[in-house]
Amino acid sequence: MKRLAILGSTGSIGQQTLEIVRSFPDKFSVVGLAGGENTGLLAKQISQFQPQLVYSTSKLSLSNKAKFSPMEEIASHPEVDLVVIATSGKIGLTPTLAAIRASKKIALANKEILVMAGKIITAEAKRYRAQILPIDSEHSAIWQCLRGEKAKVAQLILTASGGPLYHYSPSQLAKVTAEEALQHPTWKMGRKVTIDSATLMNKGLEAIEAHWLFSIPFDKIEIAIHPQSIVHSLVEFADSSVKAQLSFPDMRLPIQYALSYPERLPNSKLPRLDLIQVNSLTFEPVNYSNFPCLELALDAGKKGGTYPAVLCAADEIAIELFLTGHTNFPGIAEIIAKTIKSHQGIVDPTLGEILAADAWGRETALKVAREESLCY
Ligand code: MG
Repeated sequence: MKRLAILGSTGSIGQQTLEIVRSFPDKFSVVGLAGGENTGLLAKQISQFQPQLVYSTSKLSLSNKAKFSPMEEIASHPEVDLVVIATSGKIGLTPTLAAIRASKKIALANKEILVMAGKIITAEAKRYRAQILPIDSEHSAIWQCLRGEKAKVAQLILTASGGPLYHYSPSQLAKVTAEEALQHPTWKMGRKVTIDSATLMNKGLEAIEAHWLFSIPFDKIEIAIHPQSIVHSLVEFADSSVKAQLSFPDMRLPIQYALSYPERLPNSKLPRLDLIQVNSLTFEPVNYSNFPCLELALDAGKKGGTYPAVLCAADEIAIELFLTGHTNFPGIAEIIAKTIKSHQGIVDPTLGEILAADAWGRETALKVAREESLCY
């Protein structure tokens, strides 16, 4: 029996994690739950899974044996074997570090943590022998391809669906509404990551994530547009052999793999891949000029230091402005580009300096949007 703590249990990944737990009551139990504003759902989850420890950002009355604890305490609690980090943004950063320092297994879905502080996180994980198990489908695919391999990796190939706007012209992109950008063709995800997919920022963040998770240089990370989202990523080895992991696009599979690893559990609720029905798998080159966020992310990743934190901060602000109708779709990349341009990076930042860069990035992105009339 694996005892879990799930941080961000009311979000999209958190809810799907609990669905997996529900399917295997003899394999997993829930010790801790942390949720955000959706207290109604959190209360339901608490009564169903009976965790000992609960964290909530809003008021909630606990009627049973559960007690309130900070997320760091839940993540490092002695009765927790595996911590699922399904939060979004920087909020998961210190709980993840707490879990690492308690040598927990960490199933990581929150990509900003590795993007912002990949150097610190991976160094600490090594030091405390904490295992980081990726939940992001591309990284789960690479992890599965690498399993059992000692051979040198020639390159990683991250696939991207391209999102809902991939074949739009620049003039069409300028007129895109939030509703259109939120219509992802293959994946059902949260709002922030859906817009990140539409701008291709998501793939840039994933390249940074892959760089840290698999200690691979950026020049060995390739990106290919694969609209069907069936091949989740590929690994090319030194002898030119390429391995890929395929499945129907459903986040429950990479979640379940991270929870059950090293086992594979049969789950009839997961859709089977029928390649005859899929009929064809296609791959296209990336259109960097229509989707400048990807290059912005790759550049920030290569520069390292505080740049990725500023990238994430500016991205979050720009997306918020777009979703509330205050900037247009191309404005997202412009706000991020101008914010990064005015940043003076720190080469080897402490966690405090990373968080300060995040705060600076948010403030500057808002200022840039206002001053450059990118915001209306
Ligand atoms: Mg992904």
